[in-house]
Amino acid sequence: MRKILGNNSKNIDLNFDEVEKGFTKQEAINESKRCLSCKHKPCVSGCPVKIEIPEFIKEILNDDIPSSYRIITKYNLLPAICGRVCPQKKQCQMRCVRGKKGRPVSIGKLERYVADNHNEEICKENGKVKSLGMKVAVVGSGPSGLVCAGELLKLGFEVTIYEALHKIGGVLTYGIPKFRLPQKILEGEIEKIRRLGVNIVTNIVIGKTLSIDDLFESGYRAVYIACGAGLPKFMGIPGEKLPGVCCANEFLTRINLMYANIDGYDTPMPKAKDIVVIGGGNVAMDVARCAKRLKNSNVTVLYRRKEEDMPARKEEVLHAKSEGINFVFSGKPTKIVGDKKVEGIEYVDNSIPISNLGNLLKCDFIIVAIGNMPNTIIKSTTDEIKCDFSGRIIVNNSENDFRTSKKYVYAGGDIVTGAATVILAMSAGKKAAQQIYNDLIVCGDA
Ligand code: FAD
Ligand code: SF4
Ligand code: SF4
Repeated sequence: MRKILGNNSKNIDLNFDEVEKGFTKQEAINESKRCLSCKHKPCVSGCPVKIEIPEFIKEILNDDIPSSYRIITKYNLLPAICGRVCPQKKQCQMRCVRGKKGRPVSIGKLERYVADNHNEEICKENGKVKSLGMKVAVVGSGPSGLVCAGELLKLGFEVTIYEALHKIGGVLTYGIPKFRLPQKILEGEIEKIRRLGVNIVTNIVIGKTLSIDDLFESGYRAVYIACGAGLPKFMGIPGEKLPGVCCANEFLTRINLMYANIDGYDTPMPKAKDIVVIGGGNVAMDVARCAKRLKNSNVTVLYRRKEEDMPARKEEVLHAKSEGINFVFSGKPTKIVGDKKVEGIEYVDNSIPISNLGNLLKCDFIIVAIGNMPNTIIKSTTDEIKCDFSGRIIVNNSENDFRTSKKYVYAGGDIVTGAATVILAMSAGKKAAQQIYNDLIVCGDA
């Protein structure tokens, strides 16, 4: 077992302002000059939505940001978000030839620079879209639903998004903390899709308030389900139901949607001194960094494997350490202790083959951040949409067409893949929109 103490000695002033700063104009130009405009564009093949990367970078060098933005938004409707939260190092930048002998071009940061420095609207194919006179419903307003809606509008459909919560954006809004994705940026991106003409209805749970069949009966010709994977996983150990234990989604929602971090809001949040976050992924890092900002408490991440096994991005772990967060590695939780409320968590040392010796981490608040599963609420109202054993909707992946087992019902994003990434969810929304167009208009079999 390895313990790492965060940088507690420094008096760090933590708040919810964005941590990663963007490029200045000069920095963006210098970085763009590093792009070799490779003929075979390996970087493009690493991007799930296939942005013409060298072309948009060339326009930065020409100081033509509107043109650069138009190139990007032909492929990606949410560039200010992707430039910030995409796992670029495993995608476009991983394929960049510059990376073979040094540092790859900072493609994500350049995309963010363009998105943050333009005044363009998203193009509706030169503003000349002919209405197809057909309505399509989208369930869920996360990145997959938003992009599917935007692409359908660009193709000429009338689109309504049905969202269960009172605010749109899915995990972008209720999950990802503001110090990684500022509210102003997120709202600006969503507003651009809204201005394409999408109708948005909030506080409607499809599967409860309305069924999928209700949607067809009210005139929709197709439905795209993008309701994500928002059902938290728990560990199944004694004490998990004690007051003072909550899941990552609940904790983040209280901050992002209910402003528990701002004085004057009456959102309940325990006044905890010692907080333990269980998990080792990106969500656990987001939770720990929010917890540290909330009360300036002692925050410890308890992870069951070694540091090198952590699924979290390295830079997020480094941020967490520099912000004063402690880590306990190879610690497998066995029991949450306490009488009427949490008093600590027991764990065994996973690095010792047979370890029956319990260790105790004293704490008064525990946040479980070990992953999410799909919510089965839609499946519970219809047998026609087939799901796998874990609740993910099964789509016709062999043809990559996003069709479910029910005719004219399509699905994509986390509800199909399980918890994944923003750009994969967006890519699914984009491809599904094209498939809906092919099925309803090109084949004309509706
Ligand atoms: P979601 O974003 O989950 O949106 C689904 C929407 O559907 C929600 O608004 C929900 O309220 C609504 N909904 C659900 N059921 C219904 C219903 N029955 N009726 C109507 N509406 C419904 N990915 C990255 O690429 N980079 C990151 O940095 C990153 N950080 C993350 C941090 C956190 C804390 C979390 C939880 C995830 C993170 N992810 C990240 C993953 C990423 O956010 C998801 O993969 C992505 O949001 C999935 O998009 P989606 O549209 O499929 O679903
Ligand atoms: Fe890279 Fe993501 Fe932008 Fe594609 S969308 S170019 S993967 S940062
Ligand atoms: Fe530019 Fe790298 Fe893409 Fe080549 S691989 S075009 S250097 S971003």
